[in-house]
Amino acid sequence: MPATIIDGKALGAKVREEVTASVAELGHVGLATILVGDDPASHIYIDLKQKAATEAGMEARDLKLPADMSEEDLLATIAEVNADNGVDGLLVQLPLPDHIDETRVIEAIAPAKDVDGIHPINAGRLYLGRPTLVPGTPLGIMRMLDEYQIQLEGARAVVVGRSAIVGKPMAHLLLQRNATVTVCHSRTKDLARHTLDADVLVAAVGRLHLISPDMVRAGATVIDVGMNRDGSSRRVLGDVDPGAMERAAYMTPVPGGVGPMTIAMVLQNTVTAARLRKPAGVATAKN
Ligand code: NAP
Repeated sequence: MPATIIDGKALGAKVREEVTASVAELGHVGLATILVGDDPASHIYIDLKQKAATEAGMEARDLKLPADMSEEDLLATIAEVNADNGVDGLLVQLPLPDHIDETRVIEAIAPAKDVDGIHPINAGRLYLGRPTLVPGTPLGIMRMLDEYQIQLEGARAVVVGRSAIVGKPMAHLLLQRNATVTVCHSRTKDLARHTLDADVLVAAVGRLHLISPDMVRAGATVIDVGMNRDGSSRRVLGDVDPGAMERAAYMTPVPGGVGPMTIAMVLQNTVTAARLRKPAGVATAKN
């Protein structure tokens, strides 16, 4: 029997409805995005986030800055947004132009407004298992796993990819939920040996159909984070060969899986950041 499809589009819409209700309850929630330069893909991502934030009733500030701006000017802009009481969440679209030090920029973002969860303080809190702002993609994956009631406690989870924005936070979130976690990467020997052991397999690599059907354990839950452009059709395709649907019990499609969840969770993080910045009575409310 083919896998049950984990519908990220529908669940993402549900999360966005929840966020809209929270924004209405809070009265005002502000998200600022910073984009430096002209990278077309980055423009698309920022415009999607801006549109989603506005639709959820947030005040969305769209700072589009020139590619040749200096690092000092960017840091000064971030400091201004950090100090701005009308902004609850700030995200800086990566990658940045080569002349700008990404590490310095990330560390300049106020951790309490870091809705991408990339500041070392937030990454460190996640590492320690403390509540914090977590990157949207792994957070969205956890929500999908919970929504489909995938057993995590005691499960063997294999994460392929160890980036700071997906693979590593994913591994920590699964570990927090008492899965037994293996992290694979480009130097892993005999990848299939690991993936075949996975009850829950998360592929976050960026290599078209790296995971073939015979690398998937029968009955596994498969989460495909990859977004790869097919050379001829220009369609977006995943890291997992769709043939794996015949072996998996649950699987995310590409597109329509992890992607729509990521944006929804960035909005949810903005609500979380807003609640943490409001008076105690509000901060203890749900979400
Ligand atoms: P990344 O920073 O490039 O990391 C890729 C990871 O894959 C690295 O850890 C790398 O290992 C590992 N890797 C590369 N080749 C491998 C191989 N042959 N076998 C095993 N591991 C291998 O990428 P990322 O930012 O995590 O993104 C991964 C993919 O997810 C991309 O396609 C990206 O577009 C997509 N993505 C989607 C969303 C979404 O919302 N749907 C969000 C974020 C990312 P090393 O560390 O050893 O180099």
